[in-house]
Amino acid sequence: MNNTGHKMLEKHGDGNSWRKVADEFGVSPSMAWRIAKEGYEPQDNEIRAALGWPLIVKVQVSEKKELENVLLPWNVKILNCRSCQRPFIRLHPRQVYCDPSCRP
Ligand SMILES: [Zn+2]
Repeated sequence: MNNTGHKMLEKHGDGNSWRKVADEFGVSPSMAWRIAKEGYEPQDNEIRAALGWPLIVKVQVSEKKELENVLLPWNVKILNCRSCQRPFIRLHPRQVYCDPSCRP
């Protein structure tokens, strides 16, 4: 079971309703229940962000392979390109365009 589920179970064991537990973690009561009771690990990045979990991104690991899910490391920032609005992984703190061709 994941750590978050453990904490949720503890909170619930302290006499908090699932709704209260869920509010505290920023998820729905049914989601909190599944995470705590079933060890469910949400794949939805909005939920993962609420839980403070690493996000999942699809990347092409090699030329021949299909896109794969990978966990996004904490220090990686995803921004929307200031020009084309496409999400991109920022490689430099001052980078605001996804690609040099997007520079005005
Ligand atoms: Zn762009």
